[in-house]
Amino acid sequence: MRVGILEVMALPSQSWTEKLHHTVLTKQYASLTPQAISVWCRQLGHQSFYATYYGVGNPEQLLPKDLDVVFFSCCTLASSLVYGLAKLYRQFGAFTVIGGSHAESFPADCLRFFDLVVKDCNKELIFDIVSGQFEKGHYISSAKPFTDCPTVEERMPEILTASFFKKKWPSVFTSVPMVTSLGCPYTCDFCMDWNSPYQVLSSDRLSNDLHYLAKNYPNTVVAFHDPNFAIQFDRVFNVLESIPPESRMSYVMECSLSILTPSRIARLRKTKCIGASYGVESWQDDYSTKAGLKFKKGFEKVDRVSEHVEQLYEHVAYQQVTLLFGLDTDKGDEPVELMKRFIEQTPSAWPVIGIPVPFGGTPMFDRFWADDRILKSMPFTFYYFPHLVTQLKHYDAITYYEKLIELSDSVASEKLMKKRLKTSKNNRTRLIHFVRQKGEAVVKKYYLEILNLLHTDKQFRDFHDGKSTVLPNFYQQKYKKILGRYAELVSPEEQTPSLEQIQPQVV
Ligand code: SF4
Repeated sequence: MRVGILEVMALPSQSWTEKLHHTVLTKQYASLTPQAISVWCRQLGHQSFYATYYGVGNPEQLLPKDLDVVFFSCCTLASSLVYGLAKLYRQFGAFTVIGGSHAESFPADCLRFFDLVVKDCNKELIFDIVSGQFEKGHYISSAKPFTDCPTVEERMPEILTASFFKKKWPSVFTSVPMVTSLGCPYTCDFCMDWNSPYQVLSSDRLSNDLHYLAKNYPNTVVAFHDPNFAIQFDRVFNVLESIPPESRMSYVMECSLSILTPSRIARLRKTKCIGASYGVESWQDDYSTKAGLKFKKGFEKVDRVSEHVEQLYEHVAYQQVTLLFGLDTDKGDEPVELMKRFIEQTPSAWPVIGIPVPFGGTPMFDRFWADDRILKSMPFTFYYFPHLVTQLKHYDAITYYEKLIELSDSVASEKLMKKRLKTSKNNRTRLIHFVRQKGEAVVKKYYLEILNLLHTDKQFRDFHDGKSTVLPNFYQQKYKKILGRYAELVSPEEQTPSLEQIQPQVV
C-alpha cells in the first residue's frame, strides 16, 4: 500500500513576519506520533510518504496524489485546512484518517470529513487500519497510548524531512522530538492531558537514543515533547547525566516550576538544557500547586515565581512562561497589574499570554458549554490566540481587548527588549527575542483592528456579546483570506463546527 502521513502545524502564512516565525520556529514543532506511524507502515512493508506543513509552501504538493491511505494530524486552528486537504485526497480515492490533538478534542466534527477518526493508537491498530479492517465513519482508539515508540535511528528519515533543510542541513534550531514520559499528574482544566495517567517510558531507550544522536547528529537539539518533563526528576536526570559530558545533547523542554527545586536546578545546565517553558497560567491560587506555591496568589505569587525564574536563568539560556488571561477567576484590573509586574520583574523569560480556549474533552469546555458561553458559529480556524471564541465571565470583549493591548505593550516594551538583548546568552536567543518582538507588533495591530470593530460594528459586537449567532463578515472574509483556495473546499455550513462530544470505540 502507498500510505501518506501529513502533519499540519500552521495555517498558510499571511505576512513575511509569519513566514519567518514559521520557518524558524514552527517547522521544529513536528510531533512524534505521525513519525511513529510512518516508521510502522514502512516496517509493515508499505511505502510510506511522510511530510509536515508549517505554514510555508504548498500543502497539496507535499504528498503524492495516488495514495491508498492518508493519515492526517493537526491542532484545532489548522483543522479547516486539513478538512480541505482530506476532501482532495478523498476525491483522489484515498481512505482518510485523522488523529492528534484536534481529533481528540472534536471527534464528531472530524467524522464529517474523514473516513476514520483515531484517539490513541499503536502499531497493531495502524496495521489494522491500513489493511482495511475498519468501516468508514467510526471513532476508534487503542486501549492505551503506545509506549514503544520507534527509536530515533528508525525515525531518522522522518526527522530529516521535518526538521532539516532539504532533508540534509541542520539549522541552529533543528530539533529532534523525543519523549521520556506520557500524561501528567496535574489536572489543569484547560489541558488535554488533565486526565492522562502519568507514566515514565524506558530509560534504556532514552539513553540509546541520546547516544545515537550524540554520535551522528551532535549539532541538533533534543525537543522533549513530554506534556510535563521530568516529573520523576532523578530517574530522567540520572539518564541524562550518564552520558559523558562531551557527548551530551542540548535539549529544550516544558515543565512545572514545582519540580525545579533549588537543589535540582544546577543539573539543568550540567545536562545542557538550553530552553525551558514553564506553565504558570494564573496569578490566582488555581494552578498554584504546579508552580510549587500551593494556595499562594496575587503579589506574593508573582514575586516568588519571578524570583524562581530569574534563578533558573543562571542555568537555562532561553525561558518562556505561559500565562492565561481571561480565566473565570480573572476580574477587574488586578490580573493585568499582576502580569505587568511579573513581565517587568522577569526580563529573563518571554511571557506567552494566551486566551482560554475551550478544547473538547476538557473540564473547561464542559463548563463553558454548560454556561452556554461558547460562540458556536465561530469556525475552528479562530480557535487560537488572539481570537475570543467564548464569552468571558468577568470581561466584555471591549474591555478584554483593551487590557490585552496594555499587556502587549508591556511584553514588547523597548526598555525590556533592550534588557533582554543585553542579557541574552547567545545569538540564538537574541534571534528568538527579535522574531517574537516582531510577532508581538503584528498581534497588537490585530487587537486594535478587533477593538475598532467592536466599537464601530454593531453586528460584530452583538456576536461577541452572545446576542447574535451570525458569523460577522470580518471573520468570514478573514477565513477566506487565510485559507485561500482551500476555503472553497469547505462550505459555509461545514465551517460551523460540530461541538458534540463523543466517546471512541476501544478496539
Ligand atoms: S501541568 Fe501542564 S501538562 Fe499537566 S495538566 Fe497542567 S497544563 Fe497539562
